[in-house]
Amino acid sequence: MKVLITEYLRINLDTEKWECRRCGHVHGDARDNYKRGLLVYDRDPREIHKPLLDTKMYSRTYSPDPTWCRILEYYCSSCGTLVEAEYLPPGHPPLYDIELDIDALKLQWKDREEVVEEVRGPDLAAEKVKHGRALHAQAHGHDHGHHGHKH
Ligand SMILES: [Zn+2]
Repeated sequence: MKVLITEYLRINLDTEKWECRRCGHVHGDARDNYKRGLLVYDRDPREIHKPLLDTKMYSRTYSPDPTWCRILEYYCSSCGTLVEAEYLPPGHPPLYDIELDIDALKLQWKDREEVVEEVRGPDLAAEKVKHGRALHAQAHGHDHGHHGHKH
């Protein structure tokens, strides 16, 4: 039984391992921090949030100070998918942000059917546009798009 945890992570309850949802690569022990099995790119935050002012003239440029802030990106070592990114002070260990009770998870899922892909709801933004167009067409009848043009 595999349980979906985040967009790119799942837990295999039989092996108790973190797995990549994209390629199936095993990251590591599900009772440990999944980040242990990922590649880390310790990035200078100025590469992502570029200075908005001339760095020769100003010390504060709306760009994070790399001596105070780093951006850690975590990638699957097999398929290269960006799994997670976090902002941390330099030298801070990776956050342990997902710690699940694996035994409780097993109990919870023992009588359930496996979910292979997440259930997706309707695309509300697209529905809104469609609805708006229908209302607009109703209000303007058949003249829609033709009034106001003289050739
Ligand atoms: Zn992968």
